[in-house]
Amino acid sequence: MRATVFVVFLVLVSFVPPATAGIISWNVTYADGNSAVGFGLGNAVGQTRRNTFEAALNYVSATFDTADVTLDFAVNASETDGGGFLASAGTYFFVTPGFSNGILYQHATTGIDPTGGSDGFVTFDFGYNWNPENDTPTVGQFDLFTIALHEVTHALGFLSLTGADGTSRLNSVDPGPHSVLDSFLVNGSGDPFFAAGGDFIGNTADLTGNNVFFSGANAVAANGGNLVRMYAPATFASGSSLSHVDLTTYPGAVMTPAIDPNVAKKTYSEIDLGILQDIGWTLRSSATVPEPNSFIALAGICGLCAYRRRASLAA
Ligand SMILES: [Zn+2]
Repeated sequence: MRATVFVVFLVLVSFVPPATAGIISWNVTYADGNSAVGFGLGNAVGQTRRNTFEAALNYVSATFDTADVTLDFAVNASETDGGGFLASAGTYFFVTPGFSNGILYQHATTGIDPTGGSDGFVTFDFGYNWNPENDTPTVGQFDLFTIALHEVTHALGFLSLTGADGTSRLNSVDPGPHSVLDSFLVNGSGDPFFAAGGDFIGNTADLTGNNVFFSGANAVAANGGNLVRMYAPATFASGSSLSHVDLTTYPGAVMTPAIDPNVAKKTYSEIDLGILQDIGWTLRSSATVPEPNSFIALAGICGLCAYRRRASLAA
C-alpha cells in the first residue's frame, strides 16, 4: 500500500537564544477553526495537534538568527480522505528571473513584509493515522512534529522551482524564477545546472537520472567533503524531485522525499542544516552578526507553489 506523507521531528521549545539575536514569532491561522476536523477545536485532539505544529515552528525560531519579526503562517482546511500526500506546504515567490528563497525568507531576514499577507502555508491530510502529540509515535502513526517541520522547512526556501525541462515551474520561462537551492545544483561531475542569471545550462537527462547534487560549502562539509545527493528519480515528480535529499543516502535527514509511519521524531540533521545555511539562513549558535538588508520591492506576481511528498506505508 502506498500513501503520500511527510514527516517531521522534535522541538526544543525551552532553548534560550542569545540576547543579541532577533527571533521569529508566529501568527498561525487555522482554517479548521472550531470544527471537528483536523486542527479544529471541536476535535478532541485539535488543540494537541496545534501545539505540536507550533512546536515545530518554535524549533525553527530557536534554530535561526533572524530579524525580530512576526510571520503569518496559514494552516489550510485539513483534508480527511487519507489518499495522496500526507501534507503539502510552500511559500510565495515574485515571478522574476533569478534565484530567491521566497517571501517567508525575505520577511524573516529583513523584518520587512514584502506582501502584507501570508508568508507560508500548509495543508495536512488527517485521513491518515497521525501521532498528535509531540512525543514518540505509536505503531502505525505518522509523526506530526516531523512532518510539520519538514513542511515548514519547504516554506523556508528548501525547495526547487525547476521543472523536468529545466525551466521554472512558475512560468516555464528560461531564464525564469528559480530557488536559491536551485543555484547550488550540479551533476555528479560538478557541472552546474544554471548560469548566474538563471539560464538553464544543464542536461535535462540528469534531472531524471539520479544525477543531481547540492554543492553548497556547508552541506558538503556536513557530508564529509562530498556533494550531497538530491532526490532525482527516473520519473520527474514536480514538487518532489530536486526539492529533497536522497532518502536512501540520508535516512536521518528531515528533508527526505518520503517517510514511513513509526519513524520517530527527527530534528534537523547536519545535512539539513548545511543546506539551509548555504541558501542563506544563519544558525543562531553561530557568532555571525546579521547584516542589515534593504528591501527592494520587486514588480511581479506572487506565484504559489505547493510542495508535496510521497511516502510508502509499511505493509
Ligand atoms: Zn518535502
